[in-house]
Amino acid sequence: MIEFEAGTRALVTGASRGIGAACAVALARCGCDVAVHYNSDKDGAEETASAVRAAGREAYVVRADISCEEDITGMFAELAASFGKVGVAVLNSGVTADGFVAAMASAKWSQVIDTNLTGTFLTARESTKHMFRTGGSIVMIASTSGVAGRAGQPNYSASKGGIIALAKSMAAEVAAKKIRVNVVAPGFIETSMTRTVPKPALEQAVAAIPLQRVGQPEEVAAAVAFLASPQASYITGKTLTVDGGMING
Ligand code: NAP
Repeated sequence: MIEFEAGTRALVTGASRGIGAACAVALARCGCDVAVHYNSDKDGAEETASAVRAAGREAYVVRADISCEEDITGMFAELAASFGKVGVAVLNSGVTADGFVAAMASAKWSQVIDTNLTGTFLTARESTKHMFRTGGSIVMIASTSGVAGRAGQPNYSASKGGIIALAKSMAAEVAAKKIRVNVVAPGFIETSMTRTVPKPALEQAVAAIPLQRVGQPEEVAAAVAFLASPQASYITGKTLTVDGGMING
């Protein structure tokens, strides 16, 4: 059973919907109070916060654009003052802006790298400052595109591959402070990010998945909750793919 120490405070970025919302609820059900982060969708974040409270835990809604360093440092200062220091951080916010490499404008490249990779680096950096005295656990959300690459997603794949390397590097560095850093790399999960995929492309994607279906946000959240929890106390620097068997290795 996944169970956190009483009083554990978790931050989940991008918790207004999709995988982040499922992670916030899963952590609450395992005993965490949760800071529910959003960027533009306050109503979605409030809905997630209600679900956290329905699970019997405290919820605190906080906004930041994770591509903006000032927003991130401001968010961690606000959390320290009004919520408490976080012992668990799930760094989930992310975007796609797909296109083929030969035609990709540098602005489209930078938009995804700035949000997914630099945003994850900055939130991870600030999270460790909350955890330095007490230890903690960080779980970053990458993607199978960051493990195997994907045509049409050079910016997204590079950002997610960068997250995997960042986590390995950080894990070695902050282990002495009793901070663990791991990655969950989802495959094809049913959220607003993937709902617009045209039917033929969806069918083609599912055909390449050994379990023959797309995944649900709650199936990713279960892996995140485990890696974040004390039950994973001897696991750090690892990437767990949650992809119905799509990536072999
Ligand atoms: P989603 O439904 O599109 O949700 C994305 C979340 O990221 C939202 O909560 C959004 O906040 C937040 N976000 C976007 N831009 C942001 C910014 N600049 N600053 C702060 N937050 C921002 O996506 P999802 O499918 O749940 O994906 C969650 C994570 O899993 C992403 O990192 C994604 O790359 C990864 N992933 C997803 C899949 C999949 O198949 N769905 C597969 C592999 C990896 P607001 O709504 O408040 O703006």
